[in-house]
Amino acid sequence: MYDAIIVGAGPAGSSAAIYCNKLGLNTLLLDKSIFPRDKICGDALSGKSVKILEELDLLQDLDKLDGAIINRIIFGNPNHSECELHLNKSLNKRHISHGFVIPRKIFDNYLFKKASDVSNVVSGFNVDDLIYDKSQVIGVKGKSTTGESKKYFGNIVLGADGPYSIVSRKSGLYNSDMNYTAVGLRCYYEDIEDLTDQIELHYVNETIPGYFWIFPAGNKKANIGVGLLKSRAKKKKYNLQQILMQVINSKNFKHRFKNSKALEKPKGWNLPFGNTKRGNHGNGFLLLGDAAGLVDPFTGEGIGNAMESGKIAADIVLKAKKINNFSNQILSEYDKVLWEYLGSELKTSTLLLKLAHYRILLNFVIDRASRNKNIKNMISGMLADEVPKTELSNPMFYLKTLFS
Ligand SMILES: Cc1cc2nc3c(=O)[nH]c(=O)nc-3n(C[C@H](O)[C@H](O)[C@H](O)COP(=O)(O)OP(=O)(O)OC[C@H]3O[C@@H](n4cnc5c(N)ncnc54)[C@H](O)[C@@H]3O)c2cc1C
Repeated sequence: MYDAIIVGAGPAGSSAAIYCNKLGLNTLLLDKSIFPRDKICGDALSGKSVKILEELDLLQDLDKLDGAIINRIIFGNPNHSECELHLNKSLNKRHISHGFVIPRKIFDNYLFKKASDVSNVVSGFNVDDLIYDKSQVIGVKGKSTTGESKKYFGNIVLGADGPYSIVSRKSGLYNSDMNYTAVGLRCYYEDIEDLTDQIELHYVNETIPGYFWIFPAGNKKANIGVGLLKSRAKKKKYNLQQILMQVINSKNFKHRFKNSKALEKPKGWNLPFGNTKRGNHGNGFLLLGDAAGLVDPFTGEGIGNAMESGKIAADIVLKAKKINNFSNQILSEYDKVLWEYLGSELKTSTLLLKLAHYRILLNFVIDRASRNKNIKNMISGMLADEVPKTELSNPMFYLKTLFS
């Protein structure tokens, strides 16, 4: 009998296990994969992820992992003019001065190892159902890679099992809205020209309101890809792979790829955007990370929010344990705290996503930002997780900054 059974050992599950351990909770961490495993992603770790890793005292190890240190971000608009932001240059002294791009095969394995040091772990175990006592979830069942069926019991199940979460499907909370789910295609390349210490997000005609990204991934490698809203991708004449090739071969990018080589076939995966206040709890369970649909709708980042949900979940598990009550009513505090913490920035990003449908606005804002120190400061503050969340939900903040 565990205090918590965590299904999924990505950033949400592994950080939940680490935070639970800090609170003296006894956890079992299950994952269907054997680590190290790949995860389709842009691999970028910006402000929020970095802050949490610092809080967990893990930041110093990141420099040693294979990947790239990021000091600058470039936003390109459909007219192909660019705005460059320096993460470590601002009016205020930045707490977080740089980000990272670390292939998830390496980053997730690192975090999983840290979680394994402080939690019971079973990898290669595919959870296929929840175990109920009346309406209360009391455990999970599934199969190991050798085909052996097993059941595990705990006070609570934390579903950190990604966008196709079995915990959310079996509990009836699975929620996928085509207008708020994106699909991303990733491909590792080597020898792309002009890779330095910057990540690039290009809002090109083929992808808006999504973008084409070029992220250096260390050792002359780059993680490149396209992300499109699912509802838009369905309407396109071409599939995602064709769209990616179209952008790479377009006149603005083909010179960068002239000596490059793709290291794999492009691979796709879903990004569930956090746009609405949805229910992520029930009797005896919580949903975390992508299973709770917490990806930022504008930037496509989900690692930081996944880790944050792991931290919030651990606090709630401890509270529930103290009163020995894991009911829907007690666990509803999880959604309340999660939304207090993430709600305003998710609402802001949803608004920005809506605006990014309009070429004219993207051209205007990115042009203006390239020439305005205040806007640059605001965007890098948002990316560094330093602009207070209350400001993010105030439209006056944007109007003042944009027209200052
Ligand atoms: C193309 C693309 C690009 C992205 N780029 C970025 C980026 O640059 N930066 C960023 O911050 N975010 C990015 N994201 C989002 C980010 O990848 C996710 O938000 C993040 O991985 C969420 O973490 P998680 O722990 O919730 O889920 P995951 O990382 O998906 O982990 C879920 C884990 O659950 C396990 N699992 C699943 N089902 C079961 C089961 N039935 N039984 C047992 N285990 C199970 C899986 O094996 C996996 O290890 C991107 C996403 C995509 C698709």
